[in-house]
Amino acid sequence: MDGQWFPEPRRSVAFIGSECYPFVKTGGLGDVMYALPKALVAQNCDVKVILPKYRCIPWEYQEKMVYRGSFQMDLCADGRSFFVGIMEYVWDGVVYDFIENDEFFGYGNPYTNLIDDLPRFCFFSKAALAALNYMNWVPDVIHCHDWQAALVPVYLRTMFDQTPLAHAKTMLTIHNLRFQGIYDVRTIRYWTGLPDYVFNKDALLQNWVDANLFKGGLTYANMITTVSGTYAGEIQTAYYGEGLDAHLRYHSGKLRGIINGIDYGMWNPATDNKLAAPYDITNVLQRKPANKHALQEELGLAQDDHMFVIGLISRLTNQKGLDLVNAILPELMDGHTQIVVLGTGDAEYENAFRTYESWYRGSVCSSIMYDEGRAHRIYAGADALLVPSQFEPCGLTQLIAMHYGTIPIVRETGGLKDTVEPFNTITGWGNGFTFDHYDAGLLLDAINRAKTHYFTNRWCWDEMVQRDMDKDVSWENSAIQYRALYMELTQ
Ligand code: ADP
Repeated sequence: MDGQWFPEPRRSVAFIGSECYPFVKTGGLGDVMYALPKALVAQNCDVKVILPKYRCIPWEYQEKMVYRGSFQMDLCADGRSFFVGIMEYVWDGVVYDFIENDEFFGYGNPYTNLIDDLPRFCFFSKAALAALNYMNWVPDVIHCHDWQAALVPVYLRTMFDQTPLAHAKTMLTIHNLRFQGIYDVRTIRYWTGLPDYVFNKDALLQNWVDANLFKGGLTYANMITTVSGTYAGEIQTAYYGEGLDAHLRYHSGKLRGIINGIDYGMWNPATDNKLAAPYDITNVLQRKPANKHALQEELGLAQDDHMFVIGLISRLTNQKGLDLVNAILPELMDGHTQIVVLGTGDAEYENAFRTYESWYRGSVCSSIMYDEGRAHRIYAGADALLVPSQFEPCGLTQLIAMHYGTIPIVRETGGLKDTVEPFNTITGWGNGFTFDHYDAGLLLDAINRAKTHYFTNRWCWDEMVQRDMDKDVSWENSAIQYRALYMELTQ
């Protein structure tokens, strides 16, 4: 049959996770849950995405959902049972099934506090599997994301072992190992109703008194992935391993790293209607200044094209290297630099950035809020974007920045290291400015190198802007790699 072309066999995948843009998003996980399924559909996969039906999902989506069915499900160790509703929404070739239960998801935001979140995500993990069985849909692979869905492989190999779904293979992706879902064994045993034998030190048990949902998921999953090759190595060390480094070293044979991409439909400077002056690689140098000007006006900064504008778009937590930024921010104030912060999070950082804004009015603007539109305008209007993280599994902001012709200044860790090639003064090549050790002086040095380059070698800077816009940071490559793993799992 030489010369005859056989299409790749189709694979079906169920994504299970706690957030997904545009329904609900608090960070990069929401972007991935939106973009990767779409990219997989283009790679000959059938994809269903299973999500909680939070009350905060915008009404424009809730009103389009269609009732798919409902049933009662046993959950707790004492046999307490709960209502499970399934509401469906089909969009762009992807089927979204929302798990409904007002007791767990009928209030507030996706994450509140561990005491409330643990029972709701125990319920969600089991209900997602029960819903697949109810719909009679047995996928080739069940792809789970982060600790909120980590019990799925555990349930599948225990309580769902005798159901049709048991044929499916499981993949668990680590988007951020810092959050693991740890609570005392008694409580978890009650809420999950799982058999005693899973509470052993090779699975859920940790320190003899706690149960760790992520740890259990890593044990039972057929394959573990994380969102960059560097992070896959880092989490096997004590510094980055968040207490699970030995467990991950033990399971390293089934651990892989695949870098995230960004959705070119959602992030496209040429068609972005949130921008003052949309642009592409051919006219970025002419049009970016108009976006900078509009951003300065929107934020009440001095309107001056010659300023070096540095953006920071981030959750304000200690993961993101904000101690370093706080330590050096006054030293950046040289009359030629403006800092634009967008983020929410820990009060200490929110207050520090508010204080800097009041000290350096006209040069520093701190938007302590979550605002998608403003994020787009900062990516377009800033000259550089700061990502000095302590650890960063993949990081999306540096990818978006590059795609918008904004030069990243990053610490060489996790996905930042894998995606930003440091600028080399000899070859003139590279995508951004980097520093290695977690040190404020090194961050300052990297920013000063970027600044010097911007002010004294603009031609070379502009070349880097265009090179970054040209770099392929789409999902396509990553989707091909995920698909290859699904094939490997289901040979
Ligand atoms: P993480 O998932 O650790 O929060 P990522 O870099 O992977 O970090 O993803 C962050 C995503 O959230 C990006 O799409 C970024 O633009 C967005 N984002 C973060 N903070 C804000 C904010 N305050 N307003 C709007 N978007 C934000």
